[in-house]
Amino acid sequence: MPSQTGANRIGVVSKKLQNIGMDQEAIEADFLKYLCHTLGREISSEDYYLFRALSYTTRDRLMTHWKRTWTAYNQGKLKKAYYLSMEFLIGRSLTNNLLNLGIEDETKQALYALGLDLEQIEESERDAGLGNGGLGRLAACFMDSCATLQLPVMGYGLRYEYGMFRQQIQNGYQVEEPDHWLGFGPYPWEVQRGEYTQVVKFGGQSRQYVDPVDGHLIAHWEHAEVVLAVPYDVPIPGYKNGTVNTLRLWWAMAKEGFDLSEFNAGSYHQAVSEKSQAENITRVLYPNDSSENGKELRLKQQYFLVSASLQDVVQQWSDRHSSFDDFAEYNAFQLNDTHPSLAVAELMRLLVDKEGLDWDKAWQITTQTMAYTNHTLLPEALEKWPKDLFLRLLPRPLEIIYEINRRFLTEVAMRWPADTERQRRMSIVDEHDNICMAYLAIVGSHSVNGVAELHSTLLKDGLFNDFYQLWPEKFNNKTNGVTQRRWLAGCNPELRALLKQQIGEEWITRLTDLKQIEPLADNQDFREQWYQVKQHNKKRLADLVLHETGVILPLNSMFDVQVKRIHEYKRQLLNVLHVIHLYSRIKRGDADNWTNRAVLFGGKAAPGYAMAKQIIKLINNVAQVVNNDPQVGDRLKVVFIPNYRVSAMEVICPGTDLSEQISTAGKEASGTGNMKFMMNGALTIGTLDGANVEILDAVGKDNFFLFGLKTPEVEELRQHYNPQSYIDQSYDLQAVMGLLNSGHFNQFEPGIFDEIIHSIQSPNDPWMTLADFQSYVEVQAQAAQAYQNRDDWVRKSIINTARSGIFSTDRTMAQYNEDIWKLKPIELDGVEIQC
Ligand SMILES: *Cc1c(COP(=O)(O)O)cnc(C)c1O
Repeated sequence: MPSQTGANRIGVVSKKLQNIGMDQEAIEADFLKYLCHTLGREISSEDYYLFRALSYTTRDRLMTHWKRTWTAYNQGKLKKAYYLSMEFLIGRSLTNNLLNLGIEDETKQALYALGLDLEQIEESERDAGLGNGGLGRLAACFMDSCATLQLPVMGYGLRYEYGMFRQQIQNGYQVEEPDHWLGFGPYPWEVQRGEYTQVVKFGGQSRQYVDPVDGHLIAHWEHAEVVLAVPYDVPIPGYKNGTVNTLRLWWAMAKEGFDLSEFNAGSYHQAVSEKSQAENITRVLYPNDSSENGKELRLKQQYFLVSASLQDVVQQWSDRHSSFDDFAEYNAFQLNDTHPSLAVAELMRLLVDKEGLDWDKAWQITTQTMAYTNHTLLPEALEKWPKDLFLRLLPRPLEIIYEINRRFLTEVAMRWPADTERQRRMSIVDEHDNICMAYLAIVGSHSVNGVAELHSTLLKDGLFNDFYQLWPEKFNNKTNGVTQRRWLAGCNPELRALLKQQIGEEWITRLTDLKQIEPLADNQDFREQWYQVKQHNKKRLADLVLHETGVILPLNSMFDVQVKRIHEYKRQLLNVLHVIHLYSRIKRGDADNWTNRAVLFGGKAAPGYAMAKQIIKLINNVAQVVNNDPQVGDRLKVVFIPNYRVSAMEVICPGTDLSEQISTAGKEASGTGNMKFMMNGALTIGTLDGANVEILDAVGKDNFFLFGLKTPEVEELRQHYNPQSYIDQSYDLQAVMGLLNSGHFNQFEPGIFDEIIHSIQSPNDPWMTLADFQSYVEVQAQAAQAYQNRDDWVRKSIINTARSGIFSTDRTMAQYNEDIWKLKPIELDGVEIQC
């Protein structure tokens, strides 16, 4: 862990730092010390204080490991990687830290001896919601796996004061509430590291001077405002291996004293308002998933992250080395989507303007260190910034981007002489003077990867085809994963215990070991135990639903779950149409041989995404009608779980029977929710999209409910899509549309669903919901039928878990390392640390 040494202090006596006791007695003593002496509370205080005392107790036990890891990484020359991401969707940390430290039992016992319950205390930790959805959660899973693989990887992100908003449902509508997650006492896991504060510039002008000594041009970025970037470090422990990596989150602070002249001039208000403007940079996370924000403050956030992080790395390098000749051999940057792609321009700026390297040398270093991960093909997510905005906020980086583009277009012209159309297509600056961040990222990186096989293929064939033709060697695939420490061992203790009985716990660090349970799918006893675990987890989920919505879910019904951000491409609407279809069947008496079903939805809509918000309202209105119809009874229940987040998913995925992964083929880059469900023994109903393709490959078609158009069929159909023809051909669909059109679900709210009804009936519906309706309904019926054969269903459930081994981020990280970063794992035995 970082600390600056008071190098010229004389007579200082360093002491060897001792490990702290990991036994029950030591944990109990420390817990009481923090609770009673530090926090001034007692055993009978609110859970929140117990949580804080226990987190400090746990953090103490991470500290020596953290310091030892930091020491090992900084002694000798070793290659390190930096994961740059605008989002880290961490969720809670207590359970995970206890698990990875290997002190769950000791802690449970220590608390038990005081009459306290660990699980109840764990529940009072607030989620660190510093992300939107999949992209941010992936970053958090990556950090866990890197520490477990003992890879020297550091995360860089932003410490938003307000994370992802809290979602309330009022009269069926989403209402957003600010998530002031730091506002109720300190975040116990972070350590402020003021000694590593960086200075980030905005605005002003860029001027070129001739160096009086050697006559070459020097750029000066003048008259800029400066904002301080103060780092807060969060420990990321590996699983029982002594490694504790660092997630460094930057917080914006106005430069102290910057307002003094204004203050003296009497413009106190002006001074304070400028201070709060500077500090606005890390005030709030933009709540848009898979769509561009286009706001000035967002561009500031991006540059703030990139500039602070790169200065941090470059400074630590120049403190220890006399040249940058081999910088690229020892440093790797991974860009999580285009959000941090300004890193390309910023590293060039630091190397050329600050370190005095010539352009070609700096460019070689930059392209050898940068690697870019693409997360989406959706055009609305592709970031483009107007040149004018750039010029105003980032004049020097803009100049650098123009020079990068000029040289790049020369290369394109040499490869395809006279193909001016291609030069126009590939230009980083488009014909409307917008800077295309994805192109900057590709040009400035040696590696470009997609996040699932299908997605990576579509990048090469479509969106980035010009670049693929120029640089085929840059393109590669890294299929996403999830960490089994959180998404199986941590969130499903009952299944963990059952697995332990049969195959031990090696799977916690080698998930492919789960293969060993596959033969037990034929064992009646084992199947019965598996079923009991699932029923236990369904009870836990039903309790959550009852608490949040007041709806009672029958435990004998199939728990059919779709939780993820609300987006038209994810097609929650298709699921709603199916629910209405089931309701219609019950109402018309077509319910022989019925399978009871509880359909659960959850997810946040971006506050500005009107259609997504209407979808939430529709789900809630349908739920209201269905759940209160006595003719329906236990046969169908529908709920919308408010405020979907990491800690909710930790209850939801273990209790799910059927996982809904039903995006329009070609639109979901990977998905990771699909993997969490599979790992916990849910069967998937899904389209051939994203990582569903690989899930299907792994489990086989007998253990997966596949439906819908494939990507090329979707693209072909786009030319002549006629939704009305699907309505005409399907009695079921006519019945569903009839109920919707008649206002059956909005009797006292006329017209509120007109836009939705119109969108799915439009020949321009990009998501082609109606085209997949019939196939979806048929395969849903197969799933319902399959659920009635308990033995068979449980067999399939076991096979799903058994074959989920490849979806560990341990595998994903090993591949990034093998192909892109090339880091050596660092063992910590024998590393001495001092205090
Ligand atoms: C896993 C996860 C996601 C991603 O879900 P997808 O189904 O892959 O979109 C989003 N949000 C949370 C809270 C998650 O845990």
